[in-house]
Amino acid sequence: MEELNRLIKSCTRCDLHKWRTNPVPGEGPEDAEVMLVGEAPGYYEDKEGRPFVGAAGKLLDELLESAGLKREEVFIANVLKCRPPGNRDPTDEEIEACTPYLKRQIQIVRPRLIVALGRFAAGVLLGRPVSMGRMHGTLEDCSYGGWRGKVFVSYHPAAALYGTSRELLGRDFESLRGIVERLDEFKVSQQMTLGP
Ligand code: SF4
Repeated sequence: MEELNRLIKSCTRCDLHKWRTNPVPGEGPEDAEVMLVGEAPGYYEDKEGRPFVGAAGKLLDELLESAGLKREEVFIANVLKCRPPGNRDPTDEEIEACTPYLKRQIQIVRPRLIVALGRFAAGVLLGRPVSMGRMHGTLEDCSYGGWRGKVFVSYHPAAALYGTSRELLGRDFESLRGIVERLDEFKVSQQMTLGP
């Protein structure tokens, strides 16, 4: 993982490197059973080089606690490792350039469960467009970068700061609690593929 983090920190595969203050590789134990995948760093993440800091990070900590999890026991990553200017949506080219890093992180951590935070992360992991209104709170079969397992789809914590009700987000993480309690039942298979 250290070598991968070094690669991300010096990466110039897409134009986002021109605007970043710090890349945000992700953080957490390499043997985490649960991995969270968000969309991309925001303003505060870019400043600090860490995922989910600021208001969205504080909310994520509360949500994790409601699901019976602690931040220090989950691995937290994003689809993009550098902040899109103005927090605009990631482009297809940026996603294509950056996702080899996410695939490698998943191969290293080999989580029992991935939680997709928001429409972009869910769409990338599931390989199809995702309607959050229909799919939030659901557990989906996933095959991504050689990893096969279950992905839980949740609203992104930042959504609750910009419109989506906090109640909906809270319900997603309450459902997640029931899933986390039966993690031992989850079977994961993995084929190694070439990383970045
Ligand atoms: S977003 Fe990803 S691919 Fe683009 S420069 Fe950053 S680390 Fe590299």
